[in-house]
Amino acid sequence: MFSPLTIMLNKRIVVLGAGVSGLTTASLLLQQEKGIKVHLIAKHFPGDLSGEYTSPWAGAHWKSHATNDEIRQQEFDRETYNHFWKLAKTQQNETGIMIIDEFEYWENIPQDFSDPWFKTLCHEYRHLKKEELPKSAEFGITYKSVSINPQTYLKYLLDTFISMGGTTQYADISHINECIKSETDIVINCSGIHARTLKGVEDSNVYAARGQLVIVQSNINWAFFYREKAGNKSELTYAMPRGDDEAVLGGTYEENNYSTDIDHDAATRIIQRCLAVRPDLLPKDQTQLTIKGYGVGLRPCRKGGIRIDAEWITSEEFDKKILICHNYGHGGAGYESSYGSAKHVINVMKEMLQMQ
Ligand code: FAD
Repeated sequence: MFSPLTIMLNKRIVVLGAGVSGLTTASLLLQQEKGIKVHLIAKHFPGDLSGEYTSPWAGAHWKSHATNDEIRQQEFDRETYNHFWKLAKTQQNETGIMIIDEFEYWENIPQDFSDPWFKTLCHEYRHLKKEELPKSAEFGITYKSVSINPQTYLKYLLDTFISMGGTTQYADISHINECIKSETDIVINCSGIHARTLKGVEDSNVYAARGQLVIVQSNINWAFFYREKAGNKSELTYAMPRGDDEAVLGGTYEENNYSTDIDHDAATRIIQRCLAVRPDLLPKDQTQLTIKGYGVGLRPCRKGGIRIDAEWITSEEFDKKILICHNYGHGGAGYESSYGSAKHVINVMKEMLQMQ
């Protein structure tokens, strides 16, 4: 058996995907290990805007989706909360991550409410007093969280990766084996929604949940998420700041809808719903919100949750064994779990190498 210090020496790793999952994994590999080479292959990189590339379209804030039973997802979210908190405290400008007050509201008092698992993780967690609730809500919680400007954060991750010696390549591949060259030892697949169709992976558990956003002028430093008792489950009501006098209003959650066209009627409803809950979204000197843009992205959902595992394959072309690792299927939680899931896939990779 190899010692943990040497198993990674001289390894050449290809990361497929330059979304938040691939960039976080690729940067963390270089931060953790000396003497490895990491090469990032993707069709889309930070700065690109395409309906096929989810990460730039996210809100994005940390609002854990993990239920009180989902221990693995809790761990990913916990690690990421602590990581983002540190970045927000020390590098807010470069990373685009800011500390905010997060509010979660319920239209009706939930019958079976138990405090979420992150009660002891998030700073200043508490229940809201009646006078702090919007008119349309009977119950709510608040805590300190973070909001992330996706464009700024993705660029920060890419710059960090390159500054540590990482290399990049534009490529649109149709089979995962195309990532393998004669020098490759390991491939980490962070292909998001494309894991559904990428040959050699073709994961039929992966599906899209279309999300639409409206970007408006607003200098809020808080975020909210409103739960209606009954209502259309594909229409959500939330808002969060992006810095630079912008806020993001959401949204939609449309399972198996792959359209990336903007639905203007849905956008109007989003604005109306958000203003009904928090009229103070409106800047003091304005009577209606100034729309700065719209966004549509496909959340890479997966039945069974995020796929993090690894398998050995034999490359006949190069006559060697290659370790293929997977880190995809983050759904609506790709940012909030990014650091924890990257750490986990790297640990899984090291365990496989040690067992070799
Ligand atoms: P992607 O960002 O899609 O990246 C995939 C990468 O793989 C790309 O670089 C692509 O080019 C590359 N790739 C794939 N296949 C190939 C191929 N065959 N050849 C070459 N390159 C390939 N998450 C949160 O945590 N908080 C939020 O508040 C939040 N809000 C959201 C709001 C909306 C409207 C949406 C749509 C999503 C939101 N999310 C949020 C979810 C989050 O955006 C995703 O989970 C995350 O971006 C997924 O990142 P990824 O890196 O896995 O995939």
